[in-house]
Amino acid sequence: MDRQFAALEKSILMAKGLTAEQLEALNAAGVASRDDLKTVGDAETLTELVSDIAPAIAVKVMDWAVGRVAQQPVTQAPGPASVLLDSADIVHCVYCSARQPKDYKSGDLCIACGKQAEPVLTCFWCSASGPGKFCRSCGAEFVPTAELDLGILLRHEGLPKEEIPKRLKSLSSEEKDLLWGRVRKLRR
Ligand SMILES: [Zn+2]
Ligand SMILES: [Zn+2]
Repeated sequence: MDRQFAALEKSILMAKGLTAEQLEALNAAGVASRDDLKTVGDAETLTELVSDIAPAIAVKVMDWAVGRVAQQPVTQAPGPASVLLDSADIVHCVYCSARQPKDYKSGDLCIACGKQAEPVLTCFWCSASGPGKFCRSCGAEFVPTAELDLGILLRHEGLPKEEIPKRLKSLSSEEKDLLWGRVRKLRR
């Protein structure tokens, strides 16, 4: 098999992240030019031909081969990576993880499944419950449900309302363990 990528094609493919071994493996599979890559057609087929090409690199290679603008991740299924790019303000439904519209407000129902998109939390301060980040009755910042008892304990110990969520966030897990010990003693 003498057909090989032209020098420029080779440089481009290596710049996209392919290794020399992967290029050889492609040659062996009969892929030796940009036109051959067009015949391959998509990133999935490319990784089927040479299985150790990372999916992200396969996408880059095929975007180049078929002349697609690399910005559109059309060949990639939505995964955790796209979630990480979202700003913290974007709300995802706790039931179906559908992304909620920009004008979403706390308490709105999910556009995809119709359930309450955010968890309903209980206030450590006044025991009211509701969605969102803050208690609608007393304005306290909600603490995670798992730490509700710790919030209540700190309230009993006389910490101001605004301090408690901050305190909980700043505690190490050892310090929280100590607090849980106190919570258990109170329950007895
Ligand atoms: Zn939903
Ligand atoms: Zn409250």
